[in-house]
Amino acid sequence: MQQQAIVVNEPTDATGLEQTSIPVPAPGPGQLLVKVAATGVNFIETYQRSGVYTVDYPFVPGSEFAGVVEQIGEGVQNFKLGDRVATASGEAGYSQYALVDADLTAKVPDSVDLHIAAALPLQGMTAHYLVHSSYMVHEGDVILTYAGAGGVGLILTQLLKLKGATVITTASTQEKKDLAKAAGADYVVDYDQVADTVEKVTGGKGVNAVYDGIGKDTFETSLAALRRRGTLVLFGGASGQVPPFDLQRLNAGGSLTVTRPKLADFLTSQQEMHWRFGDMVGWVATGKIDVRIGAQYPLAEAGAAHAALESRATTGKVILLP
Ligand code: NDP
Repeated sequence: MQQQAIVVNEPTDATGLEQTSIPVPAPGPGQLLVKVAATGVNFIETYQRSGVYTVDYPFVPGSEFAGVVEQIGEGVQNFKLGDRVATASGEAGYSQYALVDADLTAKVPDSVDLHIAAALPLQGMTAHYLVHSSYMVHEGDVILTYAGAGGVGLILTQLLKLKGATVITTASTQEKKDLAKAAGADYVVDYDQVADTVEKVTGGKGVNAVYDGIGKDTFETSLAALRRRGTLVLFGGASGQVPPFDLQRLNAGGSLTVTRPKLADFLTSQQEMHWRFGDMVGWVATGKIDVRIGAQYPLAEAGAAHAALESRATTGKVILLP
């Protein structure tokens, strides 16, 4: 059987994403074939598409999707045909049917819409590990983050508020500022106001931690914003990657910590994945957090989705509908 998918044949810009017909894969041992209801679009796919991250071509992007179990591979237990599932660890999700290891797949409660479920695994579990594992946020902490109306940003701010932190964030337009405020951020400012705001809010002491997904353009501001023994969690490079860095600066800055995490290292077991996804989906189901789908595109328009993400035109989550 054939299906429609987005295939990348070589490093390209967003215009090089084209829909093609490819075979529907068969699930191997331990795998599920999922009929995709919605696929999450993430920055990592722009890095893979453009060659910033190395992948083998031809390549179908997409590790995050939600849908319904269509076929079950040998040896899989605990899943049945028709189960509603979501994952951040699937293969080739920019398609109509995609494979995933059953161990890295979570069931989605009936009360949670599959489009929301597709918007949650990657950015939601990222926000979860950032506040619980990369730097453990404590009540009363002052935290700096950026892109407060972004996919990770909107969820991260809500988790930081659940933890009792004061949140300083940025946004580039008034609409984005309003969204970041509505998510609970205490201070939403322009990028060039970050240093002054940190100074004012912390009385010159600096913040406990910075979550920086912007990278090249914000790294220096992030370092300067930290208090003694503060932690900089550099989790992405939306503006480009941070150049090589002299570790002695961490000493001079006040025994600072810098970490550069990725989600896969915080989903190391089925138990860890169930903890993080279970918390997130539970908080969505009980209304503790809200997940905003800012835009949805037909699968064939994946290139337009990438272009929008890269040009700062999006808010919240972007999904593809097959
Ligand atoms: P967002 O929805 O946050 O989109 C990126 C936002 O960054 C833009 O909307 C824009 O917001 C801001 N931005 C600032 N400067 C630039 C720039 N030069 N170019 C583009 N955007 C810029 O994206 P995601 O939530 O999907 O991802 C946010 C970051 O998190 C990315 O760097 C991504 O790689 C990273 N990430 C890391 C993971 C990990 O485990 N390490 C996992 C998931 C995501 P504004 O216009 O308001 O400034």
